[in-house]
Amino acid sequence: MVAIAFDNSYARLPERFFARLDPTPVKAPVLVKLNGALAAELGLDPDWLGSPEGVAMLAGNTIPGGAFPIATAYAGHQFGGFSPQLGDGRAILLGEVLGLDGRRFDIQLKGSGPTPFSRNGDGRAALGPVLREYIVSEAMAALGVRTTRALAAVTTGQPVRRETALPGAVLTRVASSHIRIGTFQYFAARGDVEGLRALADHVIARHYPAAAQASSPYLGLLDAVIGAQANLVAHWMTLGFIHGVMNTDNVSIAGETIDYGPCAFMDSYDPATVFSSIDERGRYAYGNQPPITLWNLTRLAEAMLPLLDENQDVAVSLAQEALGRFSGHFQPVLLDRFRRKLGMATAGEDDAALVRGLLEAMQRGQADFTLTFRRLADDAALVQGGTCRELFQEPEAFDVWEARWRQRLRGEEASGAERRDAMRRVNPLFIPRNHRVETALEAAVERGDFGPFETLLAVLAKPFDDQPGHQDHAAPPQQHERVLATFCGT
Ligand code: AMP
Ligand code: MG
Repeated sequence: MVAIAFDNSYARLPERFFARLDPTPVKAPVLVKLNGALAAELGLDPDWLGSPEGVAMLAGNTIPGGAFPIATAYAGHQFGGFSPQLGDGRAILLGEVLGLDGRRFDIQLKGSGPTPFSRNGDGRAALGPVLREYIVSEAMAALGVRTTRALAAVTTGQPVRRETALPGAVLTRVASSHIRIGTFQYFAARGDVEGLRALADHVIARHYPAAAQASSPYLGLLDAVIGAQANLVAHWMTLGFIHGVMNTDNVSIAGETIDYGPCAFMDSYDPATVFSSIDERGRYAYGNQPPITLWNLTRLAEAMLPLLDENQDVAVSLAQEALGRFSGHFQPVLLDRFRRKLGMATAGEDDAALVRGLLEAMQRGQADFTLTFRRLADDAALVQGGTCRELFQEPEAFDVWEARWRQRLRGEEASGAERRDAMRRVNPLFIPRNHRVETALEAAVERGDFGPFETLLAVLAKPFDDQPGHQDHAAPPQQHERVLATFCGT
């Protein structure tokens, strides 16, 4: 057994924070994917992880020395309704390791068997959703978005019962932590102020050490989480990412994208886009993600009230002031990202209107979000014209906008070629197109063919590079290829 240097800080918190239990062994584990580069960053030996001993650990069949397996307790608002007790129903945290750069990471098995928090669930995961999380979380990482990572996927040799019997799998997930807004809500709902304080102190030390220096560290923590969430969701918005289930138990306190379920990237631009089959009312539609983030942060602020001030009125007004700062943080970050996507290195007064103008033309012309920006990058090297307008069903609206854009660019210093290169570095060519993801999952699940999954992963690892021979992965779905609904498969 190769030693893994675990250092389990969460398990040193009071016992009521988690349930101690081992994963449930599986019949016949087979490694389907190992993320060797990530393993190396974590200081883990990829060769050992791929060996029978390593795979036994990744399947939950053996517990490595130094691990302290736990299922963590949390609560959460699901589609607006509060559940005081959710918790890891099918995930077990093996422990924490320090990466080569000294950063701390959780190593968690997802799909590793029932826990005291499973309620009616079987504690297992099906192969399809495991591969979807693997693909999309790794694509997000390559796009530069803060996210949990996928270290490995293992099939179990045991079917899981959903609507039909499906192959079972375990995902090994790596995260800065698995602490959620719902973790704070868990203690708040119980009136457990000591637990809340211990959690907040842990989070400050682990994720936001600068807050410890603030005149009020807990207010500093709230502010820091608001800022981190604003940054994260602004980044999502500029890539067309739709999380799909932004319940408060799926919001990471560290500001990472977490709990990839029925997530997807938008093809043609429409703020009302929803993929998740369970999001019937569009609560988590693309365009609702910013206000929902503020709603979720408001739930965090409520949970933290007892920490903000002894006097509840004072606490409420401090929380309201902090929440009032969300928009002032989010809007400039969003605008700055869109500015760079349009090739502007300086700030101009009418830039927000220029961005809005493009989005409106895209919506009216049903233009593909990702390709519009990518082609604008190439068009930016030309004095006029280009191929972007071909993406618009009503190119006249685009033409009017393009003239404004080119006029605005005359105020910038960079040459056309420099601007194109800068734009290509922020406007990906390759995103995990939903129809491609579905095709890859279908091949793996139904035919045991992991070829399309491997190809997709390889292409998505370099989203900003032209990859000759892989142009088909850049294309939006044709009418018959469109995927209208994604399922979380739990
Ligand atoms: P999710 O919607 O995937 O974020 O999950 C919400 C809650 O349901 C969490 O507490 C999960 O751990 C739990 N859960 C989801 N799927 C299962 C399952 N198959 N077995 C047990 N618990 C589950
Ligand atoms: Mg979840």
